[in-house]
Amino acid sequence: MDVVVVGAGTFGASLAWRLARAGESVTLVDQFAPGDARTSSGGETRLYRCSHGDAADYTAMARRAGALWRELEDEAGEELLVRRGLAWFARREDGWEAASERTLAAQGIPAERVDAAALFPSFAGEDLAFVLLEPEAGVLRAQRAVRALAARAQAHGARLVRARARPDGGAVRLDDGRRLGGDVVVWACGAWLAGLFPQVVSLSVTCQELLFLDGGPAWADPAVPAWCDYDGACYGTSDLDALGVKAAADAEGPAIDPDAELPRAPTTEAAVRAYLAARFPALAGAPLREVRTCRYEITPDTHFLAGPHPADERVWIVGGGSGHGFKHGPAMAERLIAAIAGETPLPAHFALGERRPSRSMRTAGSGTRDRP
Ligand SMILES: Cc1cc2nc3c(=O)[nH]c(=O)nc-3n(C[C@H](O)[C@H](O)[C@H](O)COP(=O)(O)OP(=O)(O)OC[C@H]3O[C@@H](n4cnc5c(N)ncnc54)[C@H](O)[C@@H]3O)c2cc1C
Repeated sequence: MDVVVVGAGTFGASLAWRLARAGESVTLVDQFAPGDARTSSGGETRLYRCSHGDAADYTAMARRAGALWRELEDEAGEELLVRRGLAWFARREDGWEAASERTLAAQGIPAERVDAAALFPSFAGEDLAFVLLEPEAGVLRAQRAVRALAARAQAHGARLVRARARPDGGAVRLDDGRRLGGDVVVWACGAWLAGLFPQVVSLSVTCQELLFLDGGPAWADPAVPAWCDYDGACYGTSDLDALGVKAAADAEGPAIDPDAELPRAPTTEAAVRAYLAARFPALAGAPLREVRTCRYEITPDTHFLAGPHPADERVWIVGGGSGHGFKHGPAMAERLIAAIAGETPLPAHFALGERRPSRSMRTAGSGTRDRP
């Protein structure tokens, strides 16, 4: 099979890697070099977790992705998924975390209720019902992982083409005038998808901020897990690779054009600092080391998008990562390949077309809080 993949983020580069290692002929096109900071996959780190509330499909997909990230690590010879664990701060007994706990248990994925004060260098959790630790969760070195995916795809014979592309019937027209065709063309263009396929893709593109703080050596200890407060819409990591302690408010930021320059001045610092002061008191005055911004490309229900174009079954679309897509890249690729081959259909929640807002798969910062 001859496949053109446009977009070398986690979805497109994973697809190129899986297809090329299976012996298919692959051309991977991107306007930037893989891992470019203007793309959603181009951040240094992204959380890896299997918890998805009661969404068993995403839970299983994340687990599978974990195994595939390990395969990539073996091929690339570098550690890309750092399993430091991830602590979920549950504000109630019957919320996202309790549902996750049940789903994880049903799939045999380790998780336990813990005393968080023993995990973090400083911690205050009087407002919490419990803390759920997912010990096999952790942090993906995202930018390096995307570069490794593209490099391994190339090592397996894929051709990497640097160009801006647009659809041209069932083919791909590059900005230098060349036309690329294949048995299948897959568009994995992140925040740019809605502009390329306005009739079938609807995404909100928002500007999101990440703060990196100097927490001192205690926060660089590999035993300190990442954390997520679903209802509080805040998450972060310990200090990995001397980047600093990462913390982010997960409410959706202002709309931004996919081609607009990303702003650098912090706008969420006060909110993030207020959260940190309450949850991790020792971080209250930690110096701000850096602010990074990035785009979310959000579907109305935060489910991913994947499927054939309604007007041409040789053209496929994948994206809508909605702020939680990175970790799933290689597993989504595997599922897409099975769907393209006509072996296993994709679930209805990935279908292109109309979506209704629903409970967020990321944190309560998106969608409608707690709507079933
Ligand atoms: C701040 C932030 C924090 C996040 N945290 C997490 C997290 O903790 N865990 C997690 O799993 N996920 C997280 N995500 C979400 C995750 O990063 C995204 O869902 C995922 O990276 C999307 O991947 P993608 O391949 O769809 O898009 P992208 O990575 O944006 O890749 C799309 C690619 O297509 C290329 N492209 C677009 N248009 C064209 C064109 N016309 N011609 C040629 N090339 C084109 C782009 O250059 C780009 O390389 C986060 C995202 C952000 C922004």
